[in-house]
Amino acid sequence: AALLAGAPAPPPAPHLFSDPAEIEALRGNLLAWYDRCKRDLPWRTLATTELDADRRAYAVWVSEIMLQQTQVATVIDYYNRWMQKWPTLQALAQASLEEVNELWAGLGYYSRGKRLQEAARKVVSELAGRMPRTAEDLQKLLPGVGRYTAGAIASISYGQATGVVDGNVIRVLCRLRCIGADSSSPPVIDRLWDMANTLVDRSRPGDFNQALMELGATVCVPKAPLCGECPVKQHCRARRRKLFGKPDPVPDVEDCGVGGCPLCPPATEPWDSNLGVTNFPRKAAKKQPRVVKTATCVLERRGCHGAPEYLIVQRPNSGLLAGLWEFPSLLLAQGLQEEKQQEALADHLQAWMGWPVAAGDLQLIGEVVHIFSHIHQTYVIYSLPLDGDVTLDPASSPSRWVTEEEFHASAVSTAMKKVL
Ligand code: SF4
Repeated sequence: AALLAGAPAPPPAPHLFSDPAEIEALRGNLLAWYDRCKRDLPWRTLATTELDADRRAYAVWVSEIMLQQTQVATVIDYYNRWMQKWPTLQALAQASLEEVNELWAGLGYYSRGKRLQEAARKVVSELAGRMPRTAEDLQKLLPGVGRYTAGAIASISYGQATGVVDGNVIRVLCRLRCIGADSSSPPVIDRLWDMANTLVDRSRPGDFNQALMELGATVCVPKAPLCGECPVKQHCRARRRKLFGKPDPVPDVEDCGVGGCPLCPPATEPWDSNLGVTNFPRKAAKKQPRVVKTATCVLERRGCHGAPEYLIVQRPNSGLLAGLWEFPSLLLAQGLQEEKQQEALADHLQAWMGWPVAAGDLQLIGEVVHIFSHIHQTYVIYSLPLDGDVTLDPASSPSRWVTEEEFHASAVSTAMKKVL
C-alpha cells in the first residue's frame, strides 16, 4: 500500500515483531515462566480475587502509583497500610491531605499521594464513584494517571488488551530488538508502545504486562542480565548478536543494514563487545542534578515531662515536598561563607519568631546530604535550645511542637528524619 504523505516510515524489520508464529511463541514462553516464577504481591492477589471491578482498579492504581520510582520491597508495607486505612475510593476521598502525607512519609515524591487522593475525590464527586473502564478514559479523566498507569489498570483490572511501557519494558524490548537509539526520545518511545501493543497477549493481557515488567525487574536487569535463565532468549536479537557477532567491519547477522536507521545506535557509538546485551538500551546523558544548600535549625525545648520537643513548620502547599513538615529552614545563596550562613539563618528565625536570635546562639551540628530526583540537597544543621515557649505570629506558616515520637508519626520527609 502506498504510504500516506508525511507518515513516518515503518521501522526496519530487524527492530520489529512481525512474524505471528514468533509472537505467539514469545507470549506462551513468557506467560509459562510468569506462572512458575511470579512474585507473590498483595495487589496481585487482590486483582485476581476481588469481584468488584472498581475495587480491583483502585488496588492496582494505588500499587502502580506507589511503584513509580520506588522498589517493590519498600512499597509492600506502605500498600498494606494504605489499603487497611482506605480500602475503597470512597474512604480515600474522605481523607485529609495531612493523613495522606503522614502515611506517605518516607516513600518520596510526595505529590503522588496528593494526586491520588485528588483523583479519588474526582471519581467520587464527578463519576458517581465508578472508575473509567478503558485505558483511554482512565488517562483522559483521572488527574495524575498517565499512559502507563492507565494501561496497567485497564489490562490488569479489566482485561483490556493494551500494552504498557515502563523502564523495565523499555530495557527488555530494546534488547529483544537491538534498539540502540536514545530510548528516552519520543519517536523511540512511540515505537516501543507500538511494539508493546502488538505483543500483548489477547486473552491474558494483565498477566502478560506484569510478566514483561517482572522479567525486566528480575532477569533482564540493567547490569548483569541472567540471559541463560531467560524464558524469551530464543527471541532476543541482542543475545544472538552477542553470541554470533563478528568484529567490524564485517557486518554481523543482526545488523540492521539500513543507513541512518532511526532505531539503531548512533554511528558514533557502535556495538561494544565488552558490554554484550547491555549495549541496549541507550539513553542520552542525564542532566546533572541542581546543587542546593539549605540551613535548617532544630529548635528544642523541654516538654512537660522533661522530654525534648522540637518545633516543626509546614511547607507551602505546592512545589517540592508540598505540605510536609520540616525544621525551620532557609535556602542559602550559592557560595555563602559559614559565618554568613549563620547570620542569615539567625535573621530568618528572628523575623519569623519575633524574638531576638543572635548568630552566636546557633550551634553548628553538621551536614546531611539528601538526593532528590533532580536536586543534590545539603542541609547545614544548627541547633538552638530554648528556655521558654515561642509564640509565633499566626500569619506565618503553621507550626507545632512535637516530641520525637510525634515527629516520626508526622508528615515529614526522609531528609528531615536524617536531620533529626
Ligand atoms: Fe534480556 Fe538476556 Fe533475555 Fe535478551 S536474553 S531478553 S538480554 S535477559
